[in-house]
Amino acid sequence: MTDTRLPPNVHVSHHPLVAHKLSLLRDQATEPKKFRELVRELSWLLGYEAMADLALRPVEIQTPLEVTEGSRLEPKVGLIPVLRAGLGMVDAMLELMPAAEVWHIGLYRDERTLQPVEYYNKLPDAATVQICLILDPMLATGGSAAATVDILKAWGAARIKQVSLIAAPEGIATLSAAHPDVEIHVGAVDRQLNDRGYIQPGLGDAGDRQFGTFSGPSPEAE
Ligand code: URA
Repeated sequence: MTDTRLPPNVHVSHHPLVAHKLSLLRDQATEPKKFRELVRELSWLLGYEAMADLALRPVEIQTPLEVTEGSRLEPKVGLIPVLRAGLGMVDAMLELMPAAEVWHIGLYRDERTLQPVEYYNKLPDAATVQICLILDPMLATGGSAAATVDILKAWGAARIKQVSLIAAPEGIATLSAAHPDVEIHVGAVDRQLNDRGYIQPGLGDAGDRQFGTFSGPSPEAE
């Protein structure tokens, strides 16, 4: 569904299952095992919605009774999980699209400048897929997302979508301004970013909560 207060490239899910599961995900009492399950289930639901306009090619198939016309997905799909939190979204997408290719791009956010820095990129020379899905649970500043799109466009990706569980308005604005052609599919748009780049109310650090790594200060701490 399209929200008129948001740019036309932004699609916020209004599915009750998404709202229900997001509330469980946000709850600080949700343990990593349950958190990972919810990331997977939400990715499945949002991936299903994000793929609603994929092109089909007609194919002839033989049922046990007769020959009939069926459909096959036309574009080759590439999944680009933004390391590390995006990894938790991959399995669900592969369940939906088993033939999808998974390409990894590693960006970290400089804690001081909040700017993305590339540290891993094993994309082959030329694009091997027609549509790329960038997977990142949190669309926060939008800096990593815009940088990932820059990399994918230079690679030759014809069509790019971003799938995130939660987005900040700032992240949507940054990504949409830099790349208005990129469609953004999210489960919710939250209120704001705090001055450490965390989404509020958000869910904290999506990587730490999936992988049980809680070494640093809490997102609320200064
Ligand atoms: N990344 C996260 O994991 N959480 C946020 O709130 C923002 C970026």
